[in-house]
Amino acid sequence: MNLSSRLAEVAVQLPDKPAYVFEGERSTYGELNASVSKFASGLYNMGIRQGDHIALLLGNSPQFVIGLYGALRLGATVIPINPIYTPDEIGYILLNGDVKAVIALDLLVPLFAQAQGRLPLLKHVIICETPQGKEKGILLPEQMKSFTNVLQSGDAHFQGPELQDDDVAVILYTSGTTGKPKGAMLTHKNLYSNAQDIANYLKINENDRVIATLPMFHVFCLTVALNAPLMNGGTVLIVPKFSPKKIFRLAREQQATIFVGVPTMYNFLYQYEGGSAEDFRTLRLCISGGSSMPVALLKNFEQKFKVIVSEGYGLSEASPVTCFNPLDRPRKPGSIGTSIMNVENKVVNEFGEEVPVGEVGELVVRGPNVMKGYYKMPEETAHALRDGWLHTGDLARMDEEGYFYIVDRKKEMIIVGGYNVYPREVEEVLYSHPDVVEAAVVGVPDPDYGEAVKGFVVSKNPQLTEEALIEYCRQHLAKYKVPSSIEFLEELPKNTTGKILRRVLKERLISSHS
Ligand code: AMP
Repeated sequence: MNLSSRLAEVAVQLPDKPAYVFEGERSTYGELNASVSKFASGLYNMGIRQGDHIALLLGNSPQFVIGLYGALRLGATVIPINPIYTPDEIGYILLNGDVKAVIALDLLVPLFAQAQGRLPLLKHVIICETPQGKEKGILLPEQMKSFTNVLQSGDAHFQGPELQDDDVAVILYTSGTTGKPKGAMLTHKNLYSNAQDIANYLKINENDRVIATLPMFHVFCLTVALNAPLMNGGTVLIVPKFSPKKIFRLAREQQATIFVGVPTMYNFLYQYEGGSAEDFRTLRLCISGGSSMPVALLKNFEQKFKVIVSEGYGLSEASPVTCFNPLDRPRKPGSIGTSIMNVENKVVNEFGEEVPVGEVGELVVRGPNVMKGYYKMPEETAHALRDGWLHTGDLARMDEEGYFYIVDRKKEMIIVGGYNVYPREVEEVLYSHPDVVEAAVVGVPDPDYGEAVKGFVVSKNPQLTEEALIEYCRQHLAKYKVPSSIEFLEELPKNTTGKILRRVLKERLISSHS
């Protein structure tokens, strides 16, 4: 079984059930499956074959879903890329990923028109028209094809080749802990097993209507908000761009049952004044992941909207989910929950030995969801996959009931006079202050202690002073963990999946001192 064959199976079982809703328009499983076959056939007619690499540079849209599943049905390997990356970033991935065809937004036509020649393997550019592209008067050059034409030229009865479990389905470029982006190769089995395991764990089924507003090119949305519902006859509510107003309206109008988001989204929804528990009346579950959910925010959110927020954890290299707070046992705020079925997690020391309960070490993972390796990077692969375990680069501890707690990323730990300070612990305290909307903490050089803790805060109260906030931290933290300075900002830098970028804050500090 794989994503494409399971979709075909659901289409036979539930042909008239809506598979997705996009801007008010719905598509049934029967229609989606036919489009997927047609698109696969259209790609085949262009000369694209099993094993070829196809990049997807699209926002959340029906074309993303049809493009992804169509390419998979053909046995091609899909490389989803953030369409707002810079030309250099996109160029690097296309070259490193040996991409033969791209499916991209029309806004990227100028980029691909210029790139020809510099990407010798790139033979086909398929373009999706957008209202913004039309407004800008972007025309399709002769050598590029339109998505609609490829789709229409295909055969709805096309049967792709037989896919092997171990064939690479998707390559996800991720920065991991260091260096240039690396392509995590996820097989058909990796993706299918993780979508099913998380669906079983969170009981995602055909009655669910799941809001997909995180970017689909990111593995969290891909598996949890797209593949898991589609494999189980649910309906995906596709949202191209997150805004609290849109989410509250959509949840109410479409009777959403699951919202999938990152902590910053929960923060925006919480702060937005136009939303109420009534809008979320039909939501049975809010899923959080991607970065740590501040405990204060989780509790406030649950109380305000009368919903359950369950936090989990994952990473691209694990397709992504490894842990989640369970539904049928207690949820523990601040924890990423327990191992999901079929996946093992443990905390190890630098020699790979499991540490005692409660002690901090590196989180390692094993299971059918763990990647095959990094594309064309044997050394990095050997470093990440040691003794059969994926080394996550995240520090964690486990309690006596098997719940895991992410302490922080290994490389973001701050060392103050020999003591370890985990930014997350300080951020949790900052978030618990009623005036703090967002917070991040980084280490800065200190002549006496090696490093000192520096905080960055978005406050909703202009009267809040640095001194008052530092004093507040003093009441809740050991002395060496208290920020030595706090800067107030209008907003914190985030990536497109909403993760707060401590690295960017640190770089800004360095450049302002040089
Ligand atoms: P990515 O590969 O982009 O999905 O990023 C994976 C990384 O996100 C992990 O290695 C963690 O550092 C971080 N992460 C994901 N979920 C959580 C969570 N619930 N709490 C803390 N960090 C998380």
